Amino acid sequence: MLFQKVSIIGFGLIGSSLARAIRKHGMAEEIVCVDRSVDVCKKAVKLKLCDKADTDLRKGVDGADLVVLAVPVGACGTVAEQIRYSLKEGAIVTDVGSVKGAVVNAVQPHIPDKAHFIPAHPIAGTEHSGPEAGFAELFEGRWCIITPLPDSDIQKVEKVTQLWEGCGSVIEIMDVKRHDLVLGITSHLPHLIAYTIVGTATDLEEDTQDDVIKFSASGFRDFTRIAASDPVMWRDVFLNNREAVLEILQRFTEDLTAMQRAIRKEDGDYLQAMFTRTRDIRRKVIEAGQAGDASPTQASEAAQPSGDRQKASGSAG
Ligand code: NAP
Repeated sequence: MLFQKVSIIGFGLIGSSLARAIRKHGMAEEIVCVDRSVDVCKKAVKLKLCDKADTDLRKGVDGADLVVLAVPVGACGTVAEQIRYSLKEGAIVTDVGSVKGAVVNAVQPHIPDKAHFIPAHPIAGTEHSGPEAGFAELFEGRWCIITPLPDSDIQKVEKVTQLWEGCGSVIEIMDVKRHDLVLGITSHLPHLIAYTIVGTATDLEEDTQDDVIKFSASGFRDFTRIAASDPVMWRDVFLNNREAVLEILQRFTEDLTAMQRAIRKEDGDYLQAMFTRTRDIRRKVIEAGQAGDASPTQASEAAQPSGDRQKASGSAG
């Protein structure tokens, strides 16, 4: 057994999927569901996803050797503050947040000297939320980025690595800042664009909107899948990765303006050269084994490591 007692705070898509994977691969003696919602706790017990469930965060983490923060990134700091005096000696606290810098800043000050905070981010997800949406195979063949802090205990980093490897993930160790920049362009910007395009459609007159839905297969529908991702989770992602997203958005806006100018000036050479370059990126994505096979039921942030380890598909934040 990798852990005696694992307490997962926030038993939604990611938290409940992790519980399922831990159980499936026999990685813990005891799994505790900790969620502020009585309803979620009842569902977790009914679905036999945990041994115990508690709405009291302090009681829920009592005696746990691993505590996983699986709440929206904006809630991680408050949750860490609530559990700080209940953590046992040597406990590992980790998270699954889609943003790392803001989570580290919010959580680390609440981690007592006797415990260890090892931030992580599984790049796996769907547009669905809640404990029923989870499944044990979600992380199989997916990247999990671990962003240890400069003074992180190597043995504890190794434990978190073993946890995610045990779930079938492939590990990448990355610096917090780099994580936020890379995910800003690969995940956060595409979500922002999808939310905006689909938002534009919601403002169209009813008959035009009907036709947009009717002919959505011509490209629009892929954006609707991404734009169906959890509103609270994504609100928190943009508010907590502000700096990186604004920087990338600035560059994107400049490129969009250049496109606009090329179309207005009927500069076909510019457009063709740009579209040729983008084709090349697609080729590289395929060669890197990242093309995936995202099904219509799965959205957002799911990057896959290359090779034959690709199993689940979808998106993640
Ligand atoms: P989710 O399905 O909405 O689950 C979140 C759970 O946390 C819900 O049960 C929610 O309860 C609970 N919660 C919220 N605030 C809380 C608080 N202050 N105290 C205790 N519980 C609280 O969300 P998710 O998709 O699993 O996302 C969880 C985390 O995973 C986020 O940090 C996200 O960035 C990260 N992540 C998501 C994806 C993805 O694609 N979905 C991928 C990778 C990482 P209520 O229902 O009462 O609000």
